[in-house]
Amino acid sequence: MNCYDCRARQETAVAVALCTRCGAGLCLDHAHVAPLTVHEPAGTGRSTHTPQARRFTCGVCHEAEV
Ligand SMILES: [Zn+2]
Ligand SMILES: [Zn+2]
Repeated sequence: MNCYDCRARQETAVAVALCTRCGAGLCLDHAHVAPLTVHEPAGTGRSTHTPQARRFTCGVCHEAEV
């Protein structure tokens, strides 16, 4: 799969990630990485165990979420 944003500019780059919102393939230049807080059920007594996940978004979706 190739980067969708690069293809839109008549360029070609191998996609290394997928936008979690629209599903577009993204190269490193176009991938926006943001931490995703994982919400675990409360009341387990292990609230400190909250690792952050990772999510990729494309430039369009990144702007739309700001
Ligand atoms: Zn790209
Ligand atoms: Zn997107």
